[in-house]
Amino acid sequence: MSGAISKAPKNTAGVTDKFGRHIRDLRISVADRCNFRCIYCMPKEIFGSDYQFLDRKELLTFEEIERLAKVFVNLGVKKIRLTGGEPLVRRNLERLVEKLAQIEGLDLTLTTNGSQLARKAEALKEAGLDRVTVSLDSMDNEVFKSMNDVGFPVEKVLAGIDEADRVGLNPIKINMVVKRGVNEQSILPMARYFKEKGHILRCIEYMDVGHSNGWKLEEVVSADEIVETINAEMPLEPMPPNYPGEVANRWKYKGEDTEVGVIASVTKPFCGGCTRARISAEGKLFTCLFATKGQDLRQLLREGATDDELTQAVSGNWRQRDDRYSEIRSSETKDLPKVEMSYIGG
Ligand code: SAM
Ligand code: SF4
Ligand code: SF4
Repeated sequence: MSGAISKAPKNTAGVTDKFGRHIRDLRISVADRCNFRCIYCMPKEIFGSDYQFLDRKELLTFEEIERLAKVFVNLGVKKIRLTGGEPLVRRNLERLVEKLAQIEGLDLTLTTNGSQLARKAEALKEAGLDRVTVSLDSMDNEVFKSMNDVGFPVEKVLAGIDEADRVGLNPIKINMVVKRGVNEQSILPMARYFKEKGHILRCIEYMDVGHSNGWKLEEVVSADEIVETINAEMPLEPMPPNYPGEVANRWKYKGEDTEVGVIASVTKPFCGGCTRARISAEGKLFTCLFATKGQDLRQLLREGATDDELTQAVSGNWRQRDDRYSEIRSSETKDLPKVEMSYIGG
């Protein structure tokens, strides 16, 4: 097995899929486990004590992740997000961050539930992490506890966010999943708090990922409704996307620099500009959040594939890609088999 990355063969750096989409973003799940049981992601009834998570030896090692990351960067990836499950439950994650941070020209970020961020932010920053996204669904303890379903308090997540800010893991984004009848009353308190703090709140439409969260269209609060709710109290103005295919619709508070975004994956799907690939914790490559099958990169790695062979395998897969699930989503498609969000990473 060759350690050093070989130069990507011709034609792979600009590889496009069947709809002409490049590969720009890579989300790497480093753990399928999580210390939360968010009702929209890992409901307790399914992810109970007898749930079979991956064995340690099934997880990609940090060295394997590093090799794959370099292959994807050669194919045009500019941004890597570490995710999970909960990425910070993976021991010594900063060692992986250190390896990835050495890859030139890469934006390296992490999505976390924030539960261990106060303790780990400094080491992550020192290892070379650029930024973090922290998930938080409410400022109200009772609502938040009922959503994470393990009784985790808001203050500890806020302390993690403050520490991330202090050590310079910014700009910080806050992901809030909005589920009707559960936390839509939390939109305004969240907007007020993070406007004041200068962090970017991103409200996410509740999605039908996996098949365990019992998703119903009626429980989705639309991005338009979310924007109207915030705008009525704190007037907003639209912002242009940072880059073509950005998932969030961006707004800023009038007269201020602070930004707020909505991710309308249900009501305004953005498959046309989707440049994201995902690698599960056991090394399967998924070209859509709603895919049913992944390409087994771990097997290739462990069978001794060269970097060149890995590059060919991934680019061959990407060329065949024709995913556009969100554009064809309907109440009928919600029951199709899909992988869980906690497995594939958000
Ligand atoms: N555990 C980490 C966290 O919660 O930030 C990272 C993994 S989590 C799967 C990534 C993101 O997916 C989180 O912001 C989470 O809120 C979001 N998410 C999970 N299930 C979702 C759903 N059904 N609809 C919309 N977003 C969802
Ligand atoms: Fe865990 Fe994140 Fe899923 Fe919540 S959203 S259960 S924190 S993986
Ligand atoms: Fe990309 Fe699939 Fe989401 Fe469409 S549904 S934006 S193709 S991940």
